[in-house]
Amino acid sequence: MAFNFPIDLRRARILVSNDDGIEAHGLKLLVKLARSLSDDVWVCAPEQEQSGASHSLTIHRPLRIRKLDTRRYAVDGTPTDCVLLAVNGLMHERRPDLMFSGVNAGGNMGEDVIYSGTVAAALEATLLGVPAIAFSQHSDEGGKFWWPTATAYMPRVVRRLVRHGWPSNTLINVNFPDRPPRKVKGIHVTSQGRRKIGDNLVERRDPRGRPYYWIGPMRDEQRTRRGTDVKAVVEGYVSVTPVFFDLTSRRVLARLRKAFH
Ligand code: MN
Repeated sequence: MAFNFPIDLRRARILVSNDDGIEAHGLKLLVKLARSLSDDVWVCAPEQEQSGASHSLTIHRPLRIRKLDTRRYAVDGTPTDCVLLAVNGLMHERRPDLMFSGVNAGGNMGEDVIYSGTVAAALEATLLGVPAIAFSQHSDEGGKFWWPTATAYMPRVVRRLVRHGWPSNTLINVNFPDRPPRKVKGIHVTSQGRRKIGDNLVERRDPRGRPYYWIGPMRDEQRTRRGTDVKAVVEGYVSVTPVFFDLTSRRVLARLRKAFH
């Protein structure tokens, strides 16, 4: 299965979703940006925040779709549910030509890609045969976001990407750095890097003295490898990473086949 590139953006039917929920600022921003590219923009996003939901699918209870406006829907499920219901349900008569996820409040670099509901929504679209791009606005502090950077760089990244195209087993993961647009150094195409995982575990006591745990945000590994998403974003570049979802390790596969021969 190959995607149809190049895409004529003005005529493209675009689906927008996210993992921060239907009311998130980043979603509203992405819808506005999508509308600056095309008149045919659809929104289907989770009722509640689903950050860290990864690619979970709701199968043990029914899903409800709430229509908020023309081409704008909320689903009481995960990002994956939203994209599946939109592509195969709401939009089945004419499927989207392109899918955008985000803009997530917080970067999705390195291992974040595995946990991220933002990336999962783009992955679901890709699995359903719709080319997809995930967008995240990184923030070093958390809580404060340079949305103007996503605003300034999103359209030019999209135009370049859809002109060039990418294979149907791949999604594109875009991260915007934590700085104003005029201080952005450029756009780097990167590989998935590493972040520090699980080193920010907070243990506290509840009012009855029992311990509870909170998983804190991941920290950036400052000495990370060159050419990675983490390095590029920390240094002030917009990062564009092609993510391939065949998780097979080809190198180990060959060795292991010999071992079991
Ligand atoms: Mn999120």
